[in-house]
Amino acid sequence: MKNNNDIFVTRSSMPPYEEYIEAIKPLWETHWLTNMGVYHQQLEKELAEYLDVPQISLTVNGHMALELAIQSFDFPEGSEIITTPFTFISTTHAIVRNKLKPVFCDVKESDGTIDEEKIEDLITEKTVAILPVHVFGNVCAIEKIQQIANDYNLKVIYDAAHAFGEKYLGRGIGNYGDVSIFSFHATKVFNTIEGGAVVCKTQEKYERLRDLKNFGIRGEELVASVGANAKMNEFAAIMGLCNLKHIDDAFSSRKKIYEYYEKEVENIDGLSLYTPKENATRNFCYFPIKVESDYSLTRDELYLKLLADNIHARKYFYPLTADQACFKNKYKDNPLVTARELTIKSMVLPLYEGLEEEYQRKIIQLLKL
Ligand SMILES: *Cc1c(COP(=O)(O)O)cnc(C)c1O
Repeated sequence: MKNNNDIFVTRSSMPPYEEYIEAIKPLWETHWLTNMGVYHQQLEKELAEYLDVPQISLTVNGHMALELAIQSFDFPEGSEIITTPFTFISTTHAIVRNKLKPVFCDVKESDGTIDEEKIEDLITEKTVAILPVHVFGNVCAIEKIQQIANDYNLKVIYDAAHAFGEKYLGRGIGNYGDVSIFSFHATKVFNTIEGGAVVCKTQEKYERLRDLKNFGIRGEELVASVGANAKMNEFAAIMGLCNLKHIDDAFSSRKKIYEYYEKEVENIDGLSLYTPKENATRNFCYFPIKVESDYSLTRDELYLKLLADNIHARKYFYPLTADQACFKNKYKDNPLVTARELTIKSMVLPLYEGLEEEYQRKIIQLLKL
């Protein structure tokens, strides 16, 4: 080992220092730092192209993208949204903060995404939408989910925070459902330091998002609706433009690391992998493993063992969002059998652009005991 530095589950990709410094220089000429300036506009254009979607609206972070995307439908207060508990807390909070009710559906053992066979049983006269997550970049059962939505006249809102750059059946993942959101948080595959986006399939949606993220301001003396402030600033947009230039390098580095893990872990008894959907490309955002009962340690024991060597794996996603302290046992009787099984055996190993091979070898050694 080079030194005894901690290894975290992820590390932010950054462009070369000089490149970013050069790119932000014009801001000292214009003094235009936010309010949907030229870099905000340019990144919206470049990302829509990259993600192969009609249009995106950039936001200050992924959470606000999701919160505002939900708000844009104007669902009646107290309506129900069927969603997954096996995700980052943001997904659930975005529903609750809109004064809507999350109805938790179980997930599939194979890929951790919402179990499409269990959605219909949860539909009531109050259900307005399905909010699945392409968790770990694993693409959901898009066709079946859309079919249910069509049959019951529901909206489909995808939390695609983990699915940046992925394609399904040759189309950008953000095209599916009524709306999808992405996160560009520092820890994600592609970052703008903090940032996010809502995929807008119509001009109407784009304008609604613009109002929601900019106080509903339509003109110097006109506030046409009530909105929040959730715009991406120019420093963040420039970070995005710089990172986007290097995105292919980031993906190929991740792919190499991912495939090395995959090859090794497949041969370790008691550890298993998630199975991604067919016809979907992958972005190698996370390397999640499942610590099965025939492994010599429990997930928590393995987590501590790695930690003892300064390797910070993460228990993603534990506890389930439905079981978090803020919800006070409200959902403890929900039959989330598979989600509760996954949450105690799932773990994400360090994976980021440039993770040194010697560290990776060490992690694998520790997994092998
Ligand atoms: C990261 C993440 C978010 C929120 O994104 P931020 O940019 O951190 O606000 C939402 N959902 C999921 C599944 C995430 O992983």
